[in-house]
Amino acid sequence: MPFAKGAKATPTYFRARSGALCNSGEYRLKFKGSCLCGALHYEIYTSKGEIYQCHCSKCRRVTGAPSNANIVVDGNDLTWLKEPAELRQFETSEGWVSSFCSVCGSKAPCKDERYGIYYVPAGGLDSDEGLSVARHIYVGSKAGWNIIGGHAEQRSEN
Ligand SMILES: [Zn+2]
Ligand SMILES: [Zn+2]
Repeated sequence: MPFAKGAKATPTYFRARSGALCNSGEYRLKFKGSCLCGALHYEIYTSKGEIYQCHCSKCRRVTGAPSNANIVVDGNDLTWLKEPAELRQFETSEGWVSSFCSVCGSKAPCKDERYGIYYVPAGGLDSDEGLSVARHIYVGSKAGWNIIGGHAEQRSEN
């Protein structure tokens, strides 16, 4: 997470995405988000406030933090509030993709073209009301110094 293009199996956080409800008009939550410099502004709709924290080695390296924290939304549940000219993607040789602001380096919503979904960085949102951690994934790869708290489910992989 965000994602590897070559992955065959449908990840569990994809099945948990909020779009199924959102598409029927049952939105419950709306958030605005931005990067640190303000070049990227976006708005998301979601019926669940579920955050997936990924502890894999790539997410740790790309964030510099113990984990990546994302909300998964359908592609049509995210709107760029201004043209995201500063949005960039980095792709590893294995096809693992991450999005960021080219000015300030903040994590940015990352489109997964395979499923038509976005991984939205929870830390970029203006509010945390209604949000909670639904699951920790790739806990088998977590840093030894990272002590995971709370009651959310923990999975060794996804
Ligand atoms: Zn990850
Ligand atoms: Zn920025």
